[in-house]
Amino acid sequence: MLSVSMGEFRIPQALYLTTNSIGLNPIFFVVFPYITMFQSKLFSKTRKESPTGESSKNADLLIRAGFIHKEMAGVYSYLPLGLRVIEKIKGIVREELNSVGAQEVELTTLQQSEVWKKTNRWDDSIVDIWFKTNLKNETTLGLAFTHEESLTVLMKNHINSYKDLPAYVYQFQSKFRNELRTKSGIMRGREFLMKDLYDFSLNKKEHEEFYEKMKGVYMKIFSRIGIGDLTYLTMSSGGSFSKYSFEFQTISDAGEDVILYDKEKRVSINKDDYSDELLGDFSLNKEDFNFTEAKSIEVGDIYNLGDKYSKALGLTYKDEKGNDQCVYMGSYGIGISRLMGAVAEVFSDDKGLVWPSSIAPFDLHIVSIGDNKEVSELSLDIYSSLVDLGINVLYDDREASAGEKLADSDLLGIPYRLIISERNMASGEIEVVERATGKTSRYDEAKVIETVTKLVKEKQNV
Ligand code: ATP
Ligand code: MG
Repeated sequence: MLSVSMGEFRIPQALYLTTNSIGLNPIFFVVFPYITMFQSKLFSKTRKESPTGESSKNADLLIRAGFIHKEMAGVYSYLPLGLRVIEKIKGIVREELNSVGAQEVELTTLQQSEVWKKTNRWDDSIVDIWFKTNLKNETTLGLAFTHEESLTVLMKNHINSYKDLPAYVYQFQSKFRNELRTKSGIMRGREFLMKDLYDFSLNKKEHEEFYEKMKGVYMKIFSRIGIGDLTYLTMSSGGSFSKYSFEFQTISDAGEDVILYDKEKRVSINKDDYSDELLGDFSLNKEDFNFTEAKSIEVGDIYNLGDKYSKALGLTYKDEKGNDQCVYMGSYGIGISRLMGAVAEVFSDDKGLVWPSSIAPFDLHIVSIGDNKEVSELSLDIYSSLVDLGINVLYDDREASAGEKLADSDLLGIPYRLIISERNMASGEIEVVERATGKTSRYDEAKVIETVTKLVKEKQNV
């Protein structure tokens, strides 16, 4: 494809000519669809040494690879590579939630005490994880650790009649929790990113239909992220409204939870809540299952809230007969940043991270080796062609040794690596390495673009 070079971007010539002729900067059109990067321009650097005081594998790897920065215990910032993973996870979650008619919002972090007092969740002796702060006039505000209260109040402005229901509302929002322990890296933050969704339904039946549907939606999300096989819908105790709830537990030694699960039948119970009573309530016969115990990470959970919040905060609607009814609610959480940590835990090896294609920061890593003009020219050429085809490429154009570049590539964990070196060029072949398996294939120059594009696109269609 004919292309034009603009700074660090190369753009298709046709686009360049069209945009130029109407007086627009073509880069505006390019930066968005083709997210690519020269590694020499990436400000975040890798490091060999593990950060001190970090006991978790996820944070250790993510810090060393330059995906995150540790601000303090339980508080992490996201750097370009880490943010791309977060955005990809959010993209999958958003797609699946929009597909069931949920609508995205973003609520405030600052919360007023009045609302939370009405549900008896303001007092520190009841909710012991609040962060609180003061206005200049000394009014105390809270930093939201969840959003049932404020969303319920907000919805009072929008729900009046049975015709306004159901409504499904969600957000990606930083939550604040003064957690006692923070030994699990980004899997347990004091400030962390959660997706929380709430259903506002007419009655128990309508809520329960959605609740059941969400079990499937959640499993689809976790499968698309690549942890479907390791993740179990897990029975667990409920909140103050219902006896039971469900968690989504991903098997990993780094987990803080323990589940009893049957791999074949895909039945799982949180060990804390395992009892004859629970088995009886779910009509499960102990003898029918072969339970194994494993540590696991709670990546999400879904709750029946009933009319607990709508009653306390006055969220009612008029039914067909004109009578006031309480809205029936549920809440559905996913730990977005915890998920990134969980993936780092379960898909990594002694060399570094191993991202599933669906949430990798880039599709492909081009590593050019050697200080040779032909090598860099060919690398740039292949880079441009792949970018034109819509592949997200990180191009390691840095002046560094082969050993350093390959070790960094392993650490970053991009699904495919394309190695262009003098030696490969001499044999007319380019090496393609799959990060997860280490499987290496060689293709001649003419074939490599087609082959790599096919590999990447196949994986993208999950
Ligand atoms: P946990 O039992 O792990 O403390 P929780 O049940 O209190 O979690 P919820 O309030 O249900 O958590 O939050 C929804 C989701 O947010 C959880 O399933 C989890 O994935 C994630 N999450 C909860 N607390 C944290 C945290 N401190 N850091 C990162 N993610 C979290
Ligand atoms: Mg939970």
